[in-house]
Amino acid sequence: MIDPFGRTVSYLRVSVTDRCDFRCVYCMAEDMTFLPKADVLSLEELDRLCNAFIRQGVRKLRLTGGEPLVRRNIMWLIERLGRQIERGALDELTLTTNGSQLAKYATALKAAGVRRINVSLDTLDEQKFAAITRWGRLGQVMDGLEAAKRAGLKVKINTVALKGVNDGEFDDLVAWCGAEGHDLTFIEVMPMGEIGGEARLDQYLPLSRVRADLARRWSLAESDYRTGGPARYVTVGETGGRVGFITPLTHNFCESCNRVRLTCTGTLYMCLGQEDAADLRAPLRASESDELLDGAILEAIGRKPKGHDFVIDRSHHGPAVPRHMSVTGG
Ligand code: SAM
Ligand code: SF4
Repeated sequence: MIDPFGRTVSYLRVSVTDRCDFRCVYCMAEDMTFLPKADVLSLEELDRLCNAFIRQGVRKLRLTGGEPLVRRNIMWLIERLGRQIERGALDELTLTTNGSQLAKYATALKAAGVRRINVSLDTLDEQKFAAITRWGRLGQVMDGLEAAKRAGLKVKINTVALKGVNDGEFDDLVAWCGAEGHDLTFIEVMPMGEIGGEARLDQYLPLSRVRADLARRWSLAESDYRTGGPARYVTVGETGGRVGFITPLTHNFCESCNRVRLTCTGTLYMCLGQEDAADLRAPLRASESDELLDGAILEAIGRKPKGHDFVIDRSHHGPAVPRHMSVTGG
């Protein structure tokens, strides 16, 4: 699939549920209303949709959410998709998770063909962890990470940089990830969805500042390592580990965008920062043959926008994109 700007679309991110067992302050309001079950695609429908994308050239699939591992029976879907790797139809199947269920699933994930996972972890401090995630417990995630390591899953830690919250801990995170053998990526807070209470401007911390600050104590060498995503990496001399920076607000990474995002209701977003979308649930449910669906996918790719325009709105303090990250999964 090639979009109108000549970019090959080979990476699909699928949000398998909008639900989550955490309520991270930058992601959700505490009293979130979730989608009615009837609107959410069944696992069979998600499998059919993913296969349609694989047929059209998608080589990498990432499951996300909400929290993908809280969806009931999720291993059924992961095992089905894992077979596409065995068949050579897919290069990579991976997921982004908060880690809370990893102790239970790590071994099964590895057996299904998952090799790498991203685990979101913003702090190593138990109390701060509870404050950021509202409902999470750090110990549970640490147990999950241990299980992932034992199972042989390669882990990348994603840390959202939050001003006045975890900005005193970045050195500890770099050292800990280095010692554990995990890559680490810092993410800037993005203005998505109403989250109640906290104002975005208070959370926003430019990663250019984080990087400059880290460079005072660590030897950071530019790296040409790429994962096909927007992160730019450096190698940390002291630990040998990699640290990445995803800066959607301060750096435009759209020109190399190879991805589209599917929600658990079958809506395809061609750009994380734009509202433009395509409904794939109707063509999916309209017919048992995949002809309508394949046509709808190609039509949507033909409308992939050139780029996004994130701005934290200084006058309204409202989100630039009204949907929550837990809808499209980041
Ligand atoms: N629940 C899983 C998790 O936390 O990894 C997967 C879904 S979560 C929406 C995916 C990623 O988006 C997480 O790394 C999370 O920290 C990040 N995220 C959520 N809201 C964000 C925001 N407003 N700005 C930047 N990153 C955000
Ligand atoms: Fe849940 Fe992930 Fe959002 Fe946190 S960031 S509330 S873990 S979906």
